[in-house]
Amino acid sequence: MKNNKKFDDEELNNRLDLAAAYHLADKYGFSDVIWNHITCKTSSKKNTFLINRFGLRYDEVTASNLIEIDLDGNIISGEGEINYTGFVIHGAIHNSREDLRCVMHSHSQAGLAVSCLKDGLEILIQDSAMFHKRISYHDWQGMSTNTEECESLRNDLGKNNAMILRNHGLLTAGKTIGEAFMLMYYLDRACRVQIDLLATNKDIIKPSNNLLEFAAGQYEDPDFRLGEHEWPALKRMLKKNNSIYDQ
Ligand SMILES: [Zn+2]
Ligand SMILES: [Zn+2]
Repeated sequence: MKNNKKFDDEELNNRLDLAAAYHLADKYGFSDVIWNHITCKTSSKKNTFLINRFGLRYDEVTASNLIEIDLDGNIISGEGEINYTGFVIHGAIHNSREDLRCVMHSHSQAGLAVSCLKDGLEILIQDSAMFHKRISYHDWQGMSTNTEECESLRNDLGKNNAMILRNHGLLTAGKTIGEAFMLMYYLDRACRVQIDLLATNKDIIKPSNNLLEFAAGQYEDPDFRLGEHEWPALKRMLKKNNSIYDQ
């Protein structure tokens, strides 16, 4: 992308990473034609966030066609419209969790399936241990078109970085775009494995609570930074496939 100094370096990098996240989300089955959103704070200097222009497929999102909106949902820069539910859901979190720069929301098929299970996500495989007692639930209230839902979204997420929107889908958030993306990757896979296991009707080995707590702690080691190594590798894949996100 030729930066005609419209964006400073920090904003440009955020725009590039966010656009990359849309292309990668499409590849990994987290897109939904034109619906849903991945958002990130525009830069540390601005109290706004970036969101996809309404009507674009995920693979059409680029660094420059992202729309900047403020925490009241007003469009600050960019052409076109936004999907208001994106502002309601993502704004609720950007508004309250300063530590989270990126919020990702998907209607992946397995995520939808688990979102309808009364007991929610079952922690069974190694890398779902990161969600052990660290995932929130938010009850469905119809389409999120009203900012009155923001408070319950905020309260339900609490201190966690992942949430199952019951009868609706998945939400993850991270300090970085790579972290939010990898959380979605692991959460969606945990859902897929759970649904696959249900279909086998066989007895399941369930890790003990102690073991899950131990493993969850391993993922919280400060040296384990989810997305740090995966994100550059994922972006190299976009480059290799000539994905146009950096315009
Ligand atoms: Zn949704
Ligand atoms: Zn969303």
